[in-house]
Amino acid sequence: METLTLKPHHFMDILKLYGAGVEEFVPDERLGHDFYRAGNRVLGDPSLSLTLTAGGDDICKPCRMYRGQCRDGLTHIPGYTSKDAYNRQLDSRVFSLFGLTEGPYSALELCGILYEGREKIFQVWTEEAEDAAQRRYALFTAGAEKYLKKWKNP
Ligand code: SF4
Repeated sequence: METLTLKPHHFMDILKLYGAGVEEFVPDERLGHDFYRAGNRVLGDPSLSLTLTAGGDDICKPCRMYRGQCRDGLTHIPGYTSKDAYNRQLDSRVFSLFGLTEGPYSALELCGILYEGREKIFQVWTEEAEDAAQRRYALFTAGAEKYLKKWKNP
């Protein structure tokens, strides 16, 4: 069975955008990453097998910023100038707070685990302003509920 390798926070971003109303992702012309491809596969297939990583994932591999690791910079997160360092911090928090391993998990199973523990979102994105974290929480919750409802008893 084919497995997609994802950073757990990328998976959460997919569900957050689904909660915001995105039903089909489109390619990013500027960076050329595969967020759209991974997102569309997750939305369309609850049995999709996912392996988790805190490093470069299948979204990053074709990205113009990816050369062995993410080379993109950051200016809006206090204490971080490297997106790779910040992303690793986020993903290591997700792994430990939600008790995740590298898997594999089915997309539906992973959605269920993250949904059950969704209050921990506030302990992951601690550098975000409170209103941004609230919005992230609300949209993730909406997206995960929509996904679980659609696929638990299709
Ligand atoms: S390499 Fe960096 S900018 Fe590109 S998709 Fe990955 S995390 Fe995002």
